[in-house]
Amino acid sequence: MPILYIVATPIGNLKDITHRALEVLHGVDVILCEDTCVTHKLLSHYGIKKPLESYHQHSRLAKADHILEMLAEGKNIALISDAGTPGISDPGGMLVEAVRERFYDAVKIVPIPGANAALAALSVSGFPADRFLFLGFPPHKKGRKTYFEKIAATEETIVFYESKHRIIKALEELSRIAPARPVMVARELTKQFETLYHGTAGECLAQLKKDKILGEFVVVRGL
Ligand code: SAM
Repeated sequence: MPILYIVATPIGNLKDITHRALEVLHGVDVILCEDTCVTHKLLSHYGIKKPLESYHQHSRLAKADHILEMLAEGKNIALISDAGTPGISDPGGMLVEAVRERFYDAVKIVPIPGANAALAALSVSGFPADRFLFLGFPPHKKGRKTYFEKIAATEETIVFYESKHRIIKALEELSRIAPARPVMVARELTKQFETLYHGTAGECLAQLKKDKILGEFVVVRGL
């Protein structure tokens, strides 16, 4: 039975990949990825040579059909994203749905778990993590206000992603809606400039502004 593997890859440090993930990437017929350059770097680090095909959430229908055809031919496929776990604020979900719809249980879908920026940040936040709400990226414009209002009204630990372009705005917004709540901002996890900022949103903002606003960010808001 053909298998579609959903494989987690590192979020920065190339060592953060499981033995099983490497075994699967070595063994499959094709690897679907977002950016072939990013994937090439990972694969060449581990001496893996495989046909790569690009796959984005918005890949045309023809692309999805092509992938379904490869599975129908009996090929084993691994889907990876540029970093972390596919499907989590990354392409993956639609492909899994399409494969399940077309093949039901004639294609096995297998998760290969590993790195994920949201969970890595949560694990060092010190905030309650038995229950938490993951909100992905805040919308850029439409829906942004409602997004932060939802955060203000939620009595749970909240985790969200933000880019270097909007992290300042997001912290300003958090500071406005819930000025006293504890926040942790995780920057560049597992990478050379990994930094954890703790305090209220306003305090994190002040610390962050002293540094260069570079890299990738996860924000965790405590209770
Ligand atoms: N699928 C990925 C995962 O499992 O974490 C997330 C992909 S999402 C497109 C990319 C966002 O994740 C970045 O903009 C940032 O908010 C967060 N992120 C990814 N790697 C990170 C890292 N090393 N440090 C901090 N945040 C990171």
